[in-house]
Amino acid sequence: PDNDAPPMPWFGMDIGGTLTKLVYFEPRETNRRELDKETEVLKNIRRYLTRNSAYGKTGRRDVHLQMDNVTIRGRRGTLHFIRFPTSEVGAFLQLARSKGMADLVNTIYATGGGAYKFEEDFIKEVNMRLSKMDELDALIAGVLYVDGMNAQECYYWAPPSECAVHSHPPYSEAALSQYVRKPFDFSSPYPFLLVNIGSGVSVLVVNAPDDYYRVSGTSLGGGTFLGLCCLLTGCSSFEEAIALAASGDNTTVDKLVRDIYGGDYARFGLPGDLVASSFGQMCSAERRAKVSRADLARATVVTITNNIGSIARLCASNENIERVVFCGNFLRVNPLSMKLLSYAMSYWSRGALKALFLEHEGYFGAVGCLLHLDS
Ligand code: ADP
Repeated sequence: PDNDAPPMPWFGMDIGGTLTKLVYFEPRETNRRELDKETEVLKNIRRYLTRNSAYGKTGRRDVHLQMDNVTIRGRRGTLHFIRFPTSEVGAFLQLARSKGMADLVNTIYATGGGAYKFEEDFIKEVNMRLSKMDELDALIAGVLYVDGMNAQECYYWAPPSECAVHSHPPYSEAALSQYVRKPFDFSSPYPFLLVNIGSGVSVLVVNAPDDYYRVSGTSLGGGTFLGLCCLLTGCSSFEEAIALAASGDNTTVDKLVRDIYGGDYARFGLPGDLVASSFGQMCSAERRAKVSRADLARATVVTITNNIGSIARLCASNENIERVVFCGNFLRVNPLSMKLLSYAMSYWSRGALKALFLEHEGYFGAVGCLLHLDS
């Protein structure tokens, strides 16, 4: 064990534009002496966090993501992954206060814009100072750490026939269902492109753990998807939007190459079922009258996803990079987007680019923060 390590409890927090991610390290009780040393408050917090999977009205623990047997600063233990909407930071602080947090930790390691925005509230409510870390530094440190600890972390979606570049976009359920998830060995990762799809999108070129830069980004991200979907369909949560999209058909909303050409645009190799104009059918009142909420939701996912895919591809070819890793909570419970990105990366690069995904999706910034709890 590292004697300079800060006192427990160890948290890493990423206060994002939409979601706050909290990673908690539960130390393994190595011996009786350590157990006795644990204060009553510390014990209560540990029990409260590890014995529940819902906190207050909106806090959730992603139990399926829990990582047992990890080592941080010479301590072995378990990582727990918790999230809540950033709009509920006030309620979180109340809860933390009621559990006695104000008597315990006085520094919490935090990243994301909220680490700045809510700094005063943390001091006032729970007497906690936020030690801030840059969110992109934290993100990369988190990705590399988690991937090193979990052999199953990185995966890809294999198309029906792995060697043939699929020529038709997988918009139908039948086509999508043929993609299968397979593990990817990411042990020699460099260089790779990291595309973080949160409320907005950042694209990073990563050459080595300490050698990276942000090459691009777009404001059309997960927040745009959810915002537009709420406007267009009246839905009120991400889960509802994704469920709607899963049962919809974007081809009633989008104008396809074949709607314009009557078939393929053969000269430039564009298949007829490719989207030529996102939402392009919605100029017609007749078409609007026929479209369903589910179709609108699906067209919104497809639009946002394809736009991110095309930016990612441009960056990858510009930088001469073959592996494109996608993360961020937009991909949570969203296999549709992952499969569309997989298709787009491989189709538009004639098989040269590979889309990769990470099991812990949106939690890397928070993990990165936890790791730097010494600085
Ligand atoms: P940020 O740090 O900007 O909050 P995240 O990586 O946490 O970014 O991703 C936020 C995005 O994830 C949202 O814009 C939305 O598209 C999606 N999302 C996934 N799950 C949820 C959820 N439970 N509530 C709100 N948005 C969610």
